[in-house]
Amino acid sequence: MNELYAPIREDAVALYEGRQRLGELETLYEAKQVELKNAGNFRERNLGGLFGGDKEKARTCKGLKGELNDLFNEKYDQPSVINGTRQRLYGHSRKLAYSEGTDERVIDKDRSLGHIKELASRDNDGRSSYMADSFRDLGYEVKEQSIGGYHPGANVIAEYKGDPSSDRYVLVTAHADKVSNFCPGANDNASGSSLILELARAAKENGPKVNMRFVSFGAEETGLNGSKAYVRSMPDRENAKAIGAINLDSVGAGNQLSVLISHAQSGFDGYSEYVGTGYTTKWVNELIEGTGKRLGIPVQRMDWSRGNSDHDPLIRNDIPATTLLRRQNGRIPNYHSESDKPEGINPDQLAEVGDLSYHSLIDMYRSRNVYSNLTGAKSVEDIDTLLEQMK
Ligand SMILES: [Zn+2]
Repeated sequence: MNELYAPIREDAVALYEGRQRLGELETLYEAKQVELKNAGNFRERNLGGLFGGDKEKARTCKGLKGELNDLFNEKYDQPSVINGTRQRLYGHSRKLAYSEGTDERVIDKDRSLGHIKELASRDNDGRSSYMADSFRDLGYEVKEQSIGGYHPGANVIAEYKGDPSSDRYVLVTAHADKVSNFCPGANDNASGSSLILELARAAKENGPKVNMRFVSFGAEETGLNGSKAYVRSMPDRENAKAIGAINLDSVGAGNQLSVLISHAQSGFDGYSEYVGTGYTTKWVNELIEGTGKRLGIPVQRMDWSRGNSDHDPLIRNDIPATTLLRRQNGRIPNYHSESDKPEGINPDQLAEVGDLSYHSLIDMYRSRNVYSNLTGAKSVEDIDTLLEQMK
């Protein structure tokens, strides 16, 4: 049995008890306030003074006031105690996912290259319909979503349901459009698009117990219009079901595999990190790095203030997200150029990103589900039942 279950149980119980205690403190505090009010609420300086020398009454009030202060202090500290436990539980849940994950490679390089060649030969409308057709060929039901505003192309959405017991899911996204018809757009971004097709195929073949949503965005190059349309179309509270997202943009060539981060040292609210006009989610970045360690795929954090990608509209709608990309000497190879052809793709480097994404998404799903289920437990017994089911 995995040795992490013991600390996970400890954290989950502490979190449950911490919340119970907070509820108790609120009740106790209110009751004590009433008690003090009924006792006369003497000021300390009245001890034996203004109220006709009723020292005993004054002493009672002083005592009650002291108790009220203690309750206030504990009530005030309790949320940060709870938060500390919550952070620890999330850390342990993530370690559990890392330690139970495998390192099998799932991306087929020839298929990926085949997709890239097909996409590179098409215009933006053709690229969207290629994505839709390919998902259908893999046996997926496909939702096509027009972007509006006279943008060619569409968003294409497919869903893998490996865990029918939950409505939560992880997202993997990539834009299919290219910057212009003079540019084949093989790396930017037939590369990311080919990988979401490969991930959809690998999920069907391997059957991981997770829910995964694949979204091919259109109209990224004209200002993230596909991803903006996607978040606008989300039903209310849909973001609560979306555990997190990995966006793939220009991942087909370059020896530096990077997650986008800020140029600031510390995170945004300790949660997200600035990048250019947007920011990425710190725990998603850390999760990818952790999964990368297991797979032997090093990831670097890339300080990039000049650009943005489709993770940004997701984050602005409370979906934790980041973007993976590749660079060579600090640059995206053949960026927005006529020379961005399929011949420029390095199949090994491309496949590495797909394998890392596959396992990161599974680790993300598992760790977040362990965490969410345990934090939602209604009793210690409930926690033990959940843990028993997980083992
Ligand atoms: Zn791009």
